[in-house]
Amino acid sequence: MASTIGVLALQGDVREHVAALEASGAHAVPVRRPRELAAVDGIVIPGGESTTMDKLLHVFELFEPLRDAIAGGLPAYGSCAGMILLANRLEGGVVGQQTLGGLDVTVRRNAFGRQVDSFETDLVVEGVPDSATDPVHAVFIRAPWVEETGPGTQVLATVGSGPAAGRIVAVRERDVVATSFHPEITGDLRLHRMFVQIVTDRG
Ligand code: GLN
Repeated sequence: MASTIGVLALQGDVREHVAALEASGAHAVPVRRPRELAAVDGIVIPGGESTTMDKLLHVFELFEPLRDAIAGGLPAYGSCAGMILLANRLEGGVVGQQTLGGLDVTVRRNAFGRQVDSFETDLVVEGVPDSATDPVHAVFIRAPWVEETGPGTQVLATVGSGPAAGRIVAVRERDVVATSFHPEITGDLRLHRMFVQIVTDRG
């Protein structure tokens, strides 16, 4: 049976993730309530605005259940704002901004600065089949990067060239994956397939 993967549906590019997960062989469902969260095998936290998502997580009484589920081993994938929410430590957040955690990393919000606010580049991503010869086209929109990783964090991708060369933009720790960029908008399903596989392997 296909794994059921939830997409946190409070704000952000929810539909694109649902479509990419369905196209990758999962059953994808929007998650807005604790009882919906309780029914999924994995969760995607989309891009959008992390400060708004933080507020809405509290309003919808999802913050603690989701934090606890991820701490308890629920596989999670966050893109962009989702990466921010999965970071144990945050730089450049607004006053009082909280994260769910799950990754032993420090993430810097809006890290790329004005000159490169939004940009695109090609990346080799560890664990993404053939990305050395057929790179992942990565779209960054007011994106974060990973400033510091813990001993258990695997770096999956760094920017190859330009002003942000060497910056960490994809990481994995246990069954938690995060990317600074938005694979859900390019039609390249390889990152979603990788996450679906992680969720399926756990099942
Ligand atoms: N800058 C946004 C934030 O802080 C993230 C941008 C995005 O998800 N595209 O949440």
